Amino acid sequence: MKPTIIAANWKMNKTLQESKALTLEIMTWLRTQQREDLRVILFPSFIHLTTIHSLLTVELPLALGAQNCHEKLSGAFTGEVSSAMLVSAGVSYVLVGHSERRLLYHEDHPLLASKVAMILEASMQPIFCCGECWQERASNVQDAYIETQLVEGLFHLSAAQIQQVIIAYEPVWAIGTGKTPDAKVITEMQKSIRTVIVKHYNTGIAEGMKVLYGGSCNAKNVKEFISIDGVDGVLVGNASLQATDFLQLLEAIC
Ligand code: PEP
Repeated sequence: MKPTIIAANWKMNKTLQESKALTLEIMTWLRTQQREDLRVILFPSFIHLTTIHSLLTVELPLALGAQNCHEKLSGAFTGEVSSAMLVSAGVSYVLVGHSERRLLYHEDHPLLASKVAMILEASMQPIFCCGECWQERASNVQDAYIETQLVEGLFHLSAAQIQQVIIAYEPVWAIGTGKTPDAKVITEMQKSIRTVIVKHYNTGIAEGMKVLYGGSCNAKNVKEFISIDGVDGVLVGNASLQATDFLQLLEAIC
């Protein structure tokens, strides 16, 4: 059975003390749970990764993720963080292609493809974000738009490699806006994503891959999202920043 993934992207929020306190509250809550099919992944700031990793214990379904990774192994890239550094800090997952990186930092398809390859080479799992802006949805070209993101960002991978990738469908118009798509829209999009994977790989691979939903997910709507057939979890931004909100979200699915 695929676990339900709850990925918490803290973005550029939280001091070290705040990150530790939030992690400890989540751990305390997880200790009260019996669910073995739950996997929570925390994405703190780079500079807090090592400290957060030192708090984690193997018996809890809690893992560490990074919000970014450089596409080169090492070298003169001031201010950047390599895949080897992330592995040495205890990171297992890395976000790639988040709309904030695509839009604010102009990360294009070839760059994202290199990052994905580098992350996999380091034996971490990329969480590859894709999603249309409102403009594409209004013009009803969202499927083709996302197909291009997948083809250009992921389909250089071998069949063995692609199975290590987690895809997060995040409509850009839903991120941080309080607007969310209908369940029908998410159902159709995860099907469309899997159809594209079938075209380039095969049905077994497409069915086995994990697809998350992300965009204004909170305690009130999470249950609806994770109940959608083919949705394997959620990527959460704002609602993961305060312990009360995030624990309510976790409570809502248990
Ligand atoms: C995100 O940034 O990936 C995200 C899902 O944010 P929010 O939950 O705040 O919409």
